[in-house]
Amino acid sequence: MSLNSLRDAFGREITYLRLSVTDRCDLRCAYCMAEEMRFLPKREVLTLEELERLAGAFIERGVKKIRITGGEPLVRRDVMTLFGKLGSRLGRGLDELTLTTNGTQLARHAKDLKAAGVERINISLDTLDDEKFRKLTRRNALSQVLAGIEAAQEAGLKIKINTVALKDLNRAELPSMIEWAHGRGMELTLIEIMPLGEIEEDRFDQYLPLSEAMSDLETRWTLEGIDKRTGGPARYMRVAETGGVIGFITPLTNNFCAGCNRVRVTCTGQIYMCLGHSDRLDLRAALRGDNPHEALNAALDQAMLKKPERHHFEIAEPGTAPALDRHMSVTGG
Ligand code: SAM
Ligand code: SF4
Repeated sequence: MSLNSLRDAFGREITYLRLSVTDRCDLRCAYCMAEEMRFLPKREVLTLEELERLAGAFIERGVKKIRITGGEPLVRRDVMTLFGKLGSRLGRGLDELTLTTNGTQLARHAKDLKAAGVERINISLDTLDDEKFRKLTRRNALSQVLAGIEAAQEAGLKIKINTVALKDLNRAELPSMIEWAHGRGMELTLIEIMPLGEIEEDRFDQYLPLSEAMSDLETRWTLEGIDKRTGGPARYMRVAETGGVIGFITPLTNNFCAGCNRVRVTCTGQIYMCLGHSDRLDLRAALRGDNPHEALNAALDQAMLKKPERHHFEIAEPGTAPALDRHMSVTGG
């Protein structure tokens, strides 16, 4: 069997894996989860050892960057052992190991993450207002998140704040959040809400096109386009007045699929070739069956053939049904 790099039918090379290690979370962000979520039974979820072997198979096929995500990855028990194991692959096939987190558990883990070789992390934070945070996440944990951010900075981790732009909740607050982040040497990336999974609210009521957010910001600041490409979907601008950088991720207003270099694997070992499609393949069966090495590589070859060219998200009008019945917490952000 050939162990070629992972290349899809449109010639895109896949070098980036987003690996979800749990579907569980200690917050309940209104756009991501329902208040009453039913989480997966433990036997369905890959063990840490299986996650490590799976990541190893991707590294063998040319994946250079792994982002650990969830659910909330840091609520998974003993997750640091996985960071330790994957960290030992850095410089041996793997170039970067990173994490997307809500920050609540960071104060405990920041030093160990840095020791494992993690250099940069993304922290999701949509408001700096206690009351709004509680309303959005249905938990009272803003001070915990802020302590986590401080601990991560002390540990020497570089931080990017990810903020979902929400019409009612944080539109007016975005400039002060950007000032706060830039004042602490952190980049901030704005994200458009995506129609993933059923939630209690109508997404049209929350959806703020980033073109509108950008117009707001331009009335206050000078935004300078900068040529910073990370291989990902974000476009970047520098704020002349703060010297800091804002990223814009616009899955709805500006499709970004042509340069896609990534796939996502859920904590049950389902590989999703595109965030915006339901098509998936079961890697867990390969991992748990006979000849797992061969079976996994065959499944990865098959997955490459099935990666679609692009997604088609839309929140055109009130009552728009979700594009997919899968929540972001399933595939990981
Ligand atoms: N719990 C971690 C966190 O919040 O960073 C990691 C997983 S979370 C699913 C990853 C990212 O997805 C977060 O930045 C979150 O804001 C974003 N997200 C969740 N649901 C979304 C949606 N429907 N549209 C856009 N972003 C979403
Ligand atoms: Fe949890 Fe992250 Fe989803 Fe919020 S966005 S509910 S923190 S998984």
